[in-house]
Amino acid sequence: MKKSEIIDYLKDDHPSSLTELYARADGVRKEYMGDGILLRGIVEFSSFCKNTCSYCGLNKNNTHLDRFRLTKEQILESVGRIAGARIKTVVLQSGEDDEISAGWLAAVVKDIKARYDMAITLSVGERPRADYQCWRDAGADRYLLKIETANPALYAALHPQMDFNNRLRCLEDVRACGYQVGCGAIVGLKDQTIDDIAGDIVFFSENNFDMIGIGPFIPHAATVLGGEQKGGVALTIKAVALTRIATGTAHLPATTALGSVGEKDYRIDALKAGANVLMPNFTPKAFKKRYEIYPGKRCVDEDSEHCVGCMQALAASIGRHIDYSRGDALKTIVSVLR
Ligand code: SF4
Repeated sequence: MKKSEIIDYLKDDHPSSLTELYARADGVRKEYMGDGILLRGIVEFSSFCKNTCSYCGLNKNNTHLDRFRLTKEQILESVGRIAGARIKTVVLQSGEDDEISAGWLAAVVKDIKARYDMAITLSVGERPRADYQCWRDAGADRYLLKIETANPALYAALHPQMDFNNRLRCLEDVRACGYQVGCGAIVGLKDQTIDDIAGDIVFFSENNFDMIGIGPFIPHAATVLGGEQKGGVALTIKAVALTRIATGTAHLPATTALGSVGEKDYRIDALKAGANVLMPNFTPKAFKKRYEIYPGKRCVDEDSEHCVGCMQALAASIGRHIDYSRGDALKTIVSVLR
């Protein structure tokens, strides 16, 4: 899609236009991904972070947060529960925590690989290329690093002390190390324009990412954006749909943020507009609430196994089913078959 066409869709809220857009995105999803909904079990293992991202409750200036770091044994216990639920991907996520050494995380990856038939996604932020290579050598399969916004000026405004070009360097490094690469963006950030959101979608398409997570901005009181408006649900779902059409084979989660932004669970709307992934949270129950990127996160009081049953019902309600395969990047599968 041309950027101008994406902008036209993002600006158009006429019901018939939305119906046509969502049907088109759903058709692309069905053609490339089928009707299965993939599950990725997430384990949030450290809420410490050295950064001050303006939208994130984990930012280091939030002194009210009761921070935690899981032990290797606690992570392995969570991964065991993911395996017990027949899920074949774990996403290990943390803030940018310099106490997490490359060697320690490599040992965690190796132990998971030794015990379970499971793909491992890491999402621990910006690190030196040597760290990415170390974890890849240990067996990690995928790396998730959201750009959040592809507009360098807006990125700079939202990320004091961080560097847009270093973000791009990290994305290039993880790709060069052989990871399947995930990216993503936030919709509805302060001073973000429709042109910016269209630019994010073009960025995703041009960089051929394997996974792309798009969620609405949800303000956190302990951040500098705490008084701002939430991102729009309709705008976020339009961005998901347009990303599906623009990228074809990328895995697109119906993000937990979409499920948490209002009373209704809007993940179902995203699944009907191009998304094909859900991410049940397997962080130990005692710690789930303490990983508060934004407030009101859905299902933090639930047992993770209960969430899987809930997701099965959600899939069935729209005539889809849970796909318990690893769900590797389709581009990777195609290149292996060649
Ligand atoms: S978005 Fe990530 S890097 Fe930024 S403050 Fe939150 S956890 Fe840290």
